[in-house]
Amino acid sequence: MADTHCPYCALQCGMSLAPVPGAGGVAAAASSVSMPDAAAARRRLPLAVTPREFPTNRGGLCQKGWTSAAVLTTPDRLTTPLIRRGGELTPASWDEALDLIAGKLGELRDEHGPGSVAVFGGGGLTNEKAYALGKFARTVLRTPNIDYNGRFCMSSAAAAANRSLGADRGLPFPLPDLGGADVVVLLGSNVAETMPPAVQHLQGAREAGQRDEGGLVVVDPRSSATAKLTDDGAGVHLQPVPGTDMVVLLGLLHVVLAEGLADRAYLAERVTGFDDVARSVAAWWPERAEIVSGVPAGELRRVARKLAAASPARGGRGAYVLTGRGVEQSSQGTATVTAAINLALALGLVGREGSGYGAITGQGNGQGGREHGQKSDQLPGYRKIDDPAAREYVAGVWGVDPGSIPGPGKPAVQLLRSLGTADGPRALLVHGSNLLVSAPNSDSVAERLRALELLVVCDFVPSETARIADVVLPVTQWAEEEGTMTSLEGRVIRRRRAADAPGEARSELWILAELARRLGTAGELEPGSVTFSTDPSEVFDELALASKGGIADYSGLTHARLDKDEAENGPGYFWPVPATPAGEHVIPSDETATTNPDDMVAWQSHPGTPRMFVGGFPTPDGRARMVVVDHAGPADDLRPGAPVYLVTGRVLQHYQSGAQTHRVAELERLVPEPYVELHPVLGVRVGVPDGARARLTTSRGVVEARARWTDAVRPDTVFMPFHWSGTGSVNRVTTDATDPVSGMPEFKVCAVDVAPVPEP
Ligand code: SF4
Repeated sequence: MADTHCPYCALQCGMSLAPVPGAGGVAAAASSVSMPDAAAARRRLPLAVTPREFPTNRGGLCQKGWTSAAVLTTPDRLTTPLIRRGGELTPASWDEALDLIAGKLGELRDEHGPGSVAVFGGGGLTNEKAYALGKFARTVLRTPNIDYNGRFCMSSAAAAANRSLGADRGLPFPLPDLGGADVVVLLGSNVAETMPPAVQHLQGAREAGQRDEGGLVVVDPRSSATAKLTDDGAGVHLQPVPGTDMVVLLGLLHVVLAEGLADRAYLAERVTGFDDVARSVAAWWPERAEIVSGVPAGELRRVARKLAAASPARGGRGAYVLTGRGVEQSSQGTATVTAAINLALALGLVGREGSGYGAITGQGNGQGGREHGQKSDQLPGYRKIDDPAAREYVAGVWGVDPGSIPGPGKPAVQLLRSLGTADGPRALLVHGSNLLVSAPNSDSVAERLRALELLVVCDFVPSETARIADVVLPVTQWAEEEGTMTSLEGRVIRRRRAADAPGEARSELWILAELARRLGTAGELEPGSVTFSTDPSEVFDELALASKGGIADYSGLTHARLDKDEAENGPGYFWPVPATPAGEHVIPSDETATTNPDDMVAWQSHPGTPRMFVGGFPTPDGRARMVVVDHAGPADDLRPGAPVYLVTGRVLQHYQSGAQTHRVAELERLVPEPYVELHPVLGVRVGVPDGARARLTTSRGVVEARARWTDAVRPDTVFMPFHWSGTGSVNRVTTDATDPVSGMPEFKVCAVDVAPVPEP
């Protein structure tokens, strides 16, 4: 039995894994990796999932979690390296594959410089792997060209929080805190489908709504499963025109200021920039906001008053403003999240127990994945890569010259656009991403990937991206490895091994160490004295040291402390968890960690930080910043007169590109194919009956799927989930226009032509 967490979303629901009773030996022969005796009992057994009590899920799991173990034994697991020969991916030994990769990277480096190689990471990688990947890119490859799929997920919320609050920890408070609030405003988040166990934390606000003392406020152009939670008096659903969420926020702030509802004492003491923001929203009176967003002025006034009444300044039980991908995946994503933070600051919600602002992280390790150095502009500890002090400190941990650390590099979309171009990278290593399905404007991404001289994909199944690679490396999955993840609340938790990996699948830590060794001994890429451990616990110790003094400080943690305290004191630690006392921290050796418990206690006594900003903001003056933002509208060409907006999202049964969940029979049976939701009025207008096949076209591509008539979408809007490849892959038509601050692409709104698919 291993106590671990679900492999999918950032809720990181607690679960236990144990062999299926009576299934002993069924899959044991699948393991061809020799095992020491101590590990021999751990076999390739089918595993059973049992929900486990954990603060985010309180014993609940969604359908994905319940069935997650099925992916471990999917029949098409990759079990051996593959090299493309004669156009086909054919089995190869690890030495063949790694020698080929190292040789080609060395050749490119000699001929075209270190920038000719790029790395693309993922928000599902453990903290240890994310750290090792960033270190590998910067020290072994010496390339600035590294970014990851979290750029598609969290980057605008992160940029806004860093700018306004001085730190980005998605939820800077424990998730269960939501339960005590009278009002929760959810902007662009469909938690009822994406993370159903989280809905229980909204119950307090829903009950307050039924008592007419608050309520759940959902802002979404679509009547999603979450929006339906506002029925029966439990709250309010605001249904703006796609791409106008910011106008809703500007209108709400206008009402708060115009009606004297702001927390003036809090603003005077803890915030800068208020006067400029107040002037800037003066022009967004509710009737004007209604004209642009379609949200009735009366509703804006009602919600603003509810929020204010629930704020601590007015003696309320608390209020939260939360953002999700629906408002963040926008070419004005950072500005929209900034508008949400401005609203929360004006009401005095942030840094007060029982109230606040937060972003609901999506990917499993979307939080930790952005803290340890796989972002193009960051170093471990959530440090900025262009900060001289940060470069010097991290270089000291890595054993390299600070001047040798390259960067900042290009954010994901710009990096992908540059692949295979005259000055761009000629080789790409992909870890934990399925770009052919998950990137915007994906047909153009496919073209760039095919233009590379070398595409290497590390994955555990033959994803769409792996199938076009030159080399595919089989890797371990969540239940086959040790490590740590960081939940959407910034809680650092342990992932534990329950089974052996099949065949020759290996951890990315091993792959990076082997590549580093080859590239170093080849003498062509100078790795200096840099070392790469394959032991997750050792990598974590180094990560913790590298994070010391940074915003996301893990230096008071070790795997051993997480294990010990989980057993004795509770689940995980909220960063920052600095080593204490504030003196020297060294990487704990076996000696200090195991035979000198007093030393261990001395620097591992910090209790973590469940609630950030309570004593001040980590900005130079300790104050939060209100920043002037204004509505600019979506980047795509929304035709005047009769635009049809496309919005995209998720369904309960599938996760991200579907590479995992399409391999689970129970989930696939429930949602076997992509679909397009459209309003009956639109269906009649464009001649697409319910159940017929619809074609969506943009200048970027074409996608086809079965039509579902529903009044859950506006008559000017269609909705399509993004979990499929091929003709039903909606990212073939989404725009890759990006937010200028964060590099976030505008997945969530573009203009499409809707038409029936012609009969053959
Ligand atoms: Fe929990 Fe998310 Fe896993 Fe569902 S997918 S069980 S909500 S962690």
